Amino acid sequence: MAVEQLRGARRLVVLTGAGMSQESGIATFRDAQTGWWARYTPEELATPEAFRSHPARVFGWYRYRAVQALAAEPHAGHRALAALERRCGDGFLLVTQNVDGLHQRAGNREVVELHGSLHAYRCAACALPYRGHLPVEQAVEAGEVAPPTCGVCGGYVRPGVVWFGEPLPQEAVERAWAAVAACDLLLVVGTSAVVYPAAYLPALARAAGAAVIEINPEPTPYSTHVTLAWRERAGRALPAMIEALAALGRS
Ligand code: NAD
Ligand code: ZN
Repeated sequence: MAVEQLRGARRLVVLTGAGMSQESGIATFRDAQTGWWARYTPEELATPEAFRSHPARVFGWYRYRAVQALAAEPHAGHRALAALERRCGDGFLLVTQNVDGLHQRAGNREVVELHGSLHAYRCAACALPYRGHLPVEQAVEAGEVAPPTCGVCGGYVRPGVVWFGEPLPQEAVERAWAAVAACDLLLVVGTSAVVYPAAYLPALARAAGAAVIEINPEPTPYSTHVTLAWRERAGRALPAMIEALAALGRS
């Protein structure tokens, strides 16, 4: 049934969350019982206030995650989404809450990063993008890393991610919301959909009359509202979908 809906869809939006990257070895936010998410609360690591009071702790944590993301490889599910984009052409948009860049590395082109990127840095004071060298060796787990300073105003350089309490990038929101309001299928993969405003997107799709398919091994708060909840890992479900689509195309 998922495959038939996918085959019939002219405008397809895929929404991904941290669960999408889990099989690439990147810990999800809520599942992580060890490491940084367990040692500190999100407020101590992922807010502008945290960066102001402990810049080296926060910058070190993001450098660690950036280096970890670069060392990770996209999995078969990421590659299946790239194949899906090639198949759909213009009618495809990938909206991600992930900041690790794995979708782009797998070959997706039309990607909206709702929460920014671990690989983009800017001045926290004047917002100038920072393109200086950041040594990989600095970024070891538990290590504090002093942020570099901006060449123009001397402010601290910060990661280009969205922190709690900050607004999402407006252009990204407009593009994602417009695409979801106009899609006929929303595929939701690996997100617990508890972080707003991204969590509104499944409801927006339903209100617009689109089908919503969820791929997640666990139930989520919106599972009961979707057209189809497929309890499977992204790395298995997505390649299976693409294979079934290709088989239908051959028949
Ligand atoms: P979340 O941690 O709240 O939820 C992850 C969801 O993925 C859960 O529902 C879980 O059941 C599911 N899941 C786990 N393994 C899966 C798999 N193999 N296949 C499919 N689903 C799987 O994550 P969220 O909803 O994305 O929200 C957390 C926030 O933390 C986001 O804002 C995100 O930006 C950020 N974050 C990003 C990354 C990343 O970039 N990889 C990692 C951690 C957190
Ligand atoms: Zn500056």
